[in-house]
Amino acid sequence: MLGGDGEAVIHYPDPRLRERSTEVEEVTDEMRKRIETLWPVMYEQGGIGLAAPQVGWMVRLFLMNLAGESDEGEEVCFVNPVVQSKRGIEVDEEGCLSLPNVHGAVARPKKIVVTGKTLDGDEIEVEAEGLAARCILHELDHLDGKLIIDHFSEQDQRKNAGAIENLERAFADRPRVESEAEAEGEPAPQ
Ligand SMILES: [Zn+2]
Repeated sequence: MLGGDGEAVIHYPDPRLRERSTEVEEVTDEMRKRIETLWPVMYEQGGIGLAAPQVGWMVRLFLMNLAGESDEGEEVCFVNPVVQSKRGIEVDEEGCLSLPNVHGAVARPKKIVVTGKTLDGDEIEVEAEGLAARCILHELDHLDGKLIIDHFSEQDQRKNAGAIENLERAFADRPRVESEAEAEGEPAPQ
């Protein structure tokens, strides 16, 4: 779960996965460095896309490499992505690094045009279809606090109920850092 520099993918139902991330005003060197540490996190977990909020970094950017391998495909980082147009509709199975063992059908536009910025701060406009469009829209959902389970049919919700319950249990039982109040010997709030 840990990648370079200790970045870790957070799992459902972590409330940060439900927040809307904030616009990036300027891509700084510090941000570029942090992004570099996220590629190995994505590859180690077999992902083809990773949105910043999935490591608890609440900014509007995501990484994508449809090959899912560091030495193959094309690495794309999208900053402040905005969908300008959508066409058609296609249903396909999706999974998510923040929802291990959860899979289901998600209907998404087939073709999209997306604008945004590169890591160099250049404005870009990209036309994507098929898996690329699906991946971009999946990551964009993360920037708005939306998850694949929100798109699932009732049947797929039921099919994944056990896996979702396991994640909820794991989150409730997660190891926690002692709160400052506890560290100072004050009673913890009830
Ligand atoms: Zn995801």
